[in-house]
Amino acid sequence: MRGPSRQKRRNLVGSILLGALLYAAFFTGGQGLQNKKRTTTRLLMGTLVSITTWGVEEEQERQGVAAAFAEMARIDALMSRHQPQSPVAQINAAPVGSPFSVSPELVGLLREAWKIQTLSQGAFDPGLGQLIERWGFSGDKPPTLPPTKAAMATWLATFQPGEGIVLEEGSAGEESRIYLTNPATGLDLGGIAKGYAIDRAIFKLKEFGITNALVNAGGDLRGIGHKGEAPWRVGIQHPREKARLVAESQWPNRPDTDVAMVTSGDYERFFIHDNKRYHHILDPKSGYPAQTGLLSVSVQANSATEADGWSTAFFVLGEKQSRKLLPKLTGVEVLFVRQDGSHWKSVNFLGKWLGKP
Ligand code: AMP
Ligand code: MG
Repeated sequence: MRGPSRQKRRNLVGSILLGALLYAAFFTGGQGLQNKKRTTTRLLMGTLVSITTWGVEEEQERQGVAAAFAEMARIDALMSRHQPQSPVAQINAAPVGSPFSVSPELVGLLREAWKIQTLSQGAFDPGLGQLIERWGFSGDKPPTLPPTKAAMATWLATFQPGEGIVLEEGSAGEESRIYLTNPATGLDLGGIAKGYAIDRAIFKLKEFGITNALVNAGGDLRGIGHKGEAPWRVGIQHPREKARLVAESQWPNRPDTDVAMVTSGDYERFFIHDNKRYHHILDPKSGYPAQTGLLSVSVQANSATEADGWSTAFFVLGEKQSRKLLPKLTGVEVLFVRQDGSHWKSVNFLGKWLGKP
């Protein structure tokens, strides 16, 4: 019997080679995908937001990340007090008592804020827009002087905690409306909206089939899944030295990991006047920046919305009151960094203390 012709042999060798090449390409391609970690960073909501994904096919990743950023920009346009066209800005601009139609989404976040307001006995208050305006913590640059004593006295005399925002809930198919009843009240969701935007970004990534991701908005984060061999690792910024970490967290290395961690501190937006630090987290009872002996509060929770709201609330409440409240809050864990450099963290807070501030 004669063997295959030279031509056929050549074809056979060619096919085997091509097969091997394809196999190699597929294999390394697959491996590359497995190890692929990509980070995209954008300036959004006045901070650098980065989205890191792991093990996702390139086109799927590109689309998912773009959708997540677009979603965060949409939330900013909806919830920001600084964007003149946002519903929040328009509610604030309307004369007292004039109702403004709002989306169910805005109503939903306001309800979350009200829940935290009630549980924190008013330490968290979404009605501080006018007060924040008086302090001047609204623009890109922090102010240089506190408001005058007279301006503060007028605000305190007029403001009524928990009473200035009215929601007229629409029945089925009808729009809800919000109006303000007090000239010293202004809607401000700045203490919770960034967390909500992070949650929505995670939701979008999941919609695109992305199950391993970390969304980091200036140190406020939520991570899902893991990065292959390694878990997500996140750092908590030192409240006094930007380049140092005060704690480091290693999240469970499991596909079902889903952790949010948000920090509030007196170092994020502040100015010093007469050797005194004035920062952007205000105590509704006094109208002045909260002073409870804390430099920062990091909260871990199931959603970034909760973590964001509670980190602000705890900062105002202080450690003692917050720790009393903690057993009532499912899934909420906390790390307090105190002014004297010491710290306290709840048992299940995922974070290793790295050193005295
Ligand atoms: P955060 O950085 O999340 O702690 O939020 C601080 C932001 O929340 C400020 O810039 C204000 O817009 C707003 N804010 C300040 N004080 C309070 C407060 N007591 N309750 C709710 N929001 C507040
Ligand atoms: Mg907050």
